[in-house]
Amino acid sequence: MRPALLNPLFAGPTSLPGIGDKLGRLVEKLVGPRVGDLLWHLPQGLIDRRFSPKIAEARAGEMVTLTVTVSDHQAPRSRRQPYRVWCHDEGGTLSLVFFHGHSDYIQKLLPPGEQRVISGRIEMFQGLPQITHPDHVVTLAERDKVMRVEPVYGMTAGLTAKPLQKAIEAALDRTPDLPEWLDPAWKQRNGWADWKTALLQAHHPESEKDLEPTTPARRRLAYDELLASQLAISLVREQQREMPGRSIRGDGRLRDKVLAALPYRLTPSQVMAGAEIAGDMASDSRMVRMLQGDVGSGKTVVAFLAMLTAVEAGCQAALMAPTEILARQHFATMAPLAELAGVGLTLLTGRDTAKRKAQIYEGLANGSIQLIVGTHALVQEDVAFADLALAVIDEQHRFGVHQRLTLSAKGRAVDMLVMSATPIPRTLMLAVYGDLDASRLTEKPAGRKPIDTRTVPLDRLDEVVGAVGRRIAAGGRVYWVCPLVEESEVVDLAAAEDRFATLVARFGDKVAMVHGQMKGPERDKAMAAFASGQAQLLVATTVIEVGVDVPAATVMVIEHAERFGLAQLHQLRGRVGRGEEASSCLLLYGSPLSENAHSRLAIMRETEDGFRIAEEDLRLRGGGEVLGTRQSGLPEMRLANLTLHSDLLQAARDDSRLIIERDPTLATQRGEALRTLLYLFERDAAVRTLRSG
Ligand code: ADP
Ligand code: MG
Repeated sequence: MRPALLNPLFAGPTSLPGIGDKLGRLVEKLVGPRVGDLLWHLPQGLIDRRFSPKIAEARAGEMVTLTVTVSDHQAPRSRRQPYRVWCHDEGGTLSLVFFHGHSDYIQKLLPPGEQRVISGRIEMFQGLPQITHPDHVVTLAERDKVMRVEPVYGMTAGLTAKPLQKAIEAALDRTPDLPEWLDPAWKQRNGWADWKTALLQAHHPESEKDLEPTTPARRRLAYDELLASQLAISLVREQQREMPGRSIRGDGRLRDKVLAALPYRLTPSQVMAGAEIAGDMASDSRMVRMLQGDVGSGKTVVAFLAMLTAVEAGCQAALMAPTEILARQHFATMAPLAELAGVGLTLLTGRDTAKRKAQIYEGLANGSIQLIVGTHALVQEDVAFADLALAVIDEQHRFGVHQRLTLSAKGRAVDMLVMSATPIPRTLMLAVYGDLDASRLTEKPAGRKPIDTRTVPLDRLDEVVGAVGRRIAAGGRVYWVCPLVEESEVVDLAAAEDRFATLVARFGDKVAMVHGQMKGPERDKAMAAFASGQAQLLVATTVIEVGVDVPAATVMVIEHAERFGLAQLHQLRGRVGRGEEASSCLLLYGSPLSENAHSRLAIMRETEDGFRIAEEDLRLRGGGEVLGTRQSGLPEMRLANLTLHSDLLQAARDDSRLIIERDPTLATQRGEALRTLLYLFERDAAVRTLRSG
């Protein structure tokens, strides 16, 4: 059970004073669904409002907090004129300027004859000082609330600074003191404050220096996050290690059939990965291995051969994919291989009818189904296996620990192979998975040609459409990806639909479209039309994986490529260059490009090496939250920056190992505090793996 102490942090943002539904939704979109999420939203800047001169001393451009008396109001004589409020102090006069202001509101805010404290930036207009739209107007009693260093937070459209600041202050007010989970010696060596003190310091910077990730307060918070994740990983790993394994050895009869009939030879890294997996499965301990390789590097056949090993040993194997499309994709790739082996392969998704599902459940329970591919449908309660020995999990970062454990709990000593098309840099691998065994597919299958990648400003869209037209006329197939900007799915979809409409106007029924709001069958139909060549141009939003393997597709157009993360661009580009023909990728960008976006696009032009791209991605993102992170699937670290805090990552790993060695059930006083830490960072699935006492 979550410690009651943390309850206020787990309530929704509307539980805070002054936050209604509308504001609550915006806050939720920006930071997450809980009050606690506000705590992790650290300031990016600050405004020093402590300078409080007399009007006569204030200079243009200065940020000031002034105490003034309101003289009178000057309503605009025309629509273009602003509303002006004249104020004075002993030695000077200044006007406050409001464009499109409501006079009622301004009258109430600044009643003539009364004193007010105002804060904003001084401007000079016709020789007189003025402040346009002062940031704060308060009474004398509230002066201290304004005259301070104000933190500046990252925002989302529709949310303004003041309510967000208030929400964060309110969240900090709700924050309890928590028992110390840090090792006292380590804490002292680093000169760190208590958790809550560090949190308050991080939110109340006094100077620019306090905003740096290397301040003691921010390092402490980063360490807490890293410790929570490392401890969670260690606990789950420990549990897996303690569970008895079993030796699964195939005799090779099915695999040999497939290998003999494959139209290609396995690459050296495929062979090596296969041997590593077979070795793990044959050993008595449980396999938890990751199979990493770029899109198109040939993971599927490696995974399938492992699944056949389980069947050769008289057991069952299951592959779970995070989306319907990916599950179908794997099924389509594996079905011919299964045929070569002479073994049946079944697909289970949420879309199957109740009757079909019942049949499948029966087949799994009585063992007549030996190989199954599916979505989350596989971890439903009704699913039971006769003897599941191998679980293959695709794109595992999309699944929670819980779902993975649920699948492996459906068998006895289930070996686990997780596949990831995201090449993960070493530091990140460590941060997210601990020291997991990994096999990497490093070379592309023979015969692949490099992809010609170009960046094109969006104002040359016409030329791009022309080039796409020539490809289509020559019988080629083209992907056209429209971005999702998260701000509003509806608006994004509208943009994608507009693009679809203009392309249809040009190319008629050669264009198909897929997006996340589409119903499954509709989507499949569009995908199938593209795969068969009936449609030659596929417009897609990124809500869905462009998860079709269409070797005939040779052009990838990505609109507003500057809005995508590197990992995502790399994944998308990997959809072409899969056939014999030369492919190209056009990255259309809107100007002006930020420095970071410029670097991203440059790296895309420079290399196709996924591991190199991943390293650059991590370097550019630092593990912080950036637009596109969520879609790229890489885990978000909210406080830790894996580049700047990599020393802390190592320390957190060592720390968590020591904890598990000395206090495996977190029973000591520090163990109790560590449980609180796990809950705080929502790593409680790991707590559940602890057996009591
Ligand atoms: P991934 O799952 O890693 O994205 P796939 O397993 O779908 O990649 O493989 C992509 C394509 O490459 C498939 O059509 C597959 O048949 C083919 N393929 C796999 N291994 C090889 C190989 N060694 N040589 C040639 N083609 C291969
Ligand atoms: Mg084993």
